[in-house]
Amino acid sequence: MKRLTDNFGRRIDYLRLSVTDRCNLRCVYCMPKRMRFLPKRDVLSIEELEALASAFIRRGVRAVRITGGEPLMRGGVMRLFRALSRHLRRGDLDEIALTTNGSRLASFAGALRDCGVERVNVSLDTLKPDIFSALTRGGLLSEVLSGLEAADKAGLRVKINLVVLGDANLDEVPEVIMWAHGRGYAVSLIEVMPLGDVGEDRLAQYVPLDFVRRRLSERWVLEAEGYRSLGPSRYVRVRETGGLLGFITPLTENFCASCNRVRVSCVGEFFGCLGRGVSVDLRGALRGGFLDEAIDRALLGKMWGHDFRIGGGVGVPVARHMSVTGG
Ligand code: SAM
Ligand code: SF4
Repeated sequence: MKRLTDNFGRRIDYLRLSVTDRCNLRCVYCMPKRMRFLPKRDVLSIEELEALASAFIRRGVRAVRITGGEPLMRGGVMRLFRALSRHLRRGDLDEIALTTNGSRLASFAGALRDCGVERVNVSLDTLKPDIFSALTRGGLLSEVLSGLEAADKAGLRVKINLVVLGDANLDEVPEVIMWAHGRGYAVSLIEVMPLGDVGEDRLAQYVPLDFVRRRLSERWVLEAEGYRSLGPSRYVRVRETGGLLGFITPLTENFCASCNRVRVSCVGEFFGCLGRGVSVDLRGALRGGFLDEAIDRALLGKMWGHDFRIGGGVGVPVARHMSVTGG
């Protein structure tokens, strides 16, 4: 079957599949306090999500990341992991990954590992319970820490996703990195992206990561590192801690040339690019039996790159929230 290649010759071998746009937290950079979620009646069933993922796998996708919203809040999500694990065993998939806020990981870590999940990205922006609660609008840091312990016990490799926020955790970044590296976790720092109205001042949140990197390199030696994940993180190794540190810099350093991924939301919308508003409906095609043609058509519309700007006055802000497509 024809492999997925976009108009710019980029091979697509990575699918990020959002299984729900709902979440038990309300992170200040991700969604507003009162979030309007997608209508439940439009959400694909677990079997439909599996059929979608399988169609992409048949077309050469080698890695699937399950994301959300909070994927571990989705009822029946383990059925999806179990179904995907069959692709792993057959050798037509290399990796099933997960991005989670970690709050429910304590109940799921063992079962995920049993399904062949080896790595999880856990979002954690602070180690201070009060700041965690403020940033997530009510979340409990202790739940995430228990989730991480369970992940360690289950033998899952952990990467911490940390969104750097000028008005909340900027000064705490080195401390979180040291803590994470001390536990053997990689860390990716993320620039806040202007996705959806979150009812907060994006300019106060936004910190360019080149600034953070300069600050960190006054304190540590950041050594060039050959390691590359499937995603957009660019890594260095911190000599003093021995740990990996990634930078996800959609705004200050464009990484679109090497883009290998597409995204599908829980209602079956295909997004060629996180930073563009355009989507193509795959749900109708899935139900109508013409999914392959629809995927080809959708891929034709994958644009070269995003158009993110914060405060630059140029570029179109994306109305969709990050929780629709996940990270
Ligand atoms: N709920 C899960 C979690 O928090 O890890 C998965 C979905 S969440 C939308 C995926 C990632 O996107 C998280 O690491 C989160 O920190 C990040 N994120 C959310 N909104 C963002 C934004 N506006 N800019 C940059 N990163 C964002
Ligand atoms: Fe939920 Fe993840 Fe968004 Fe936070 S970043 S509100 S945990 S979906």
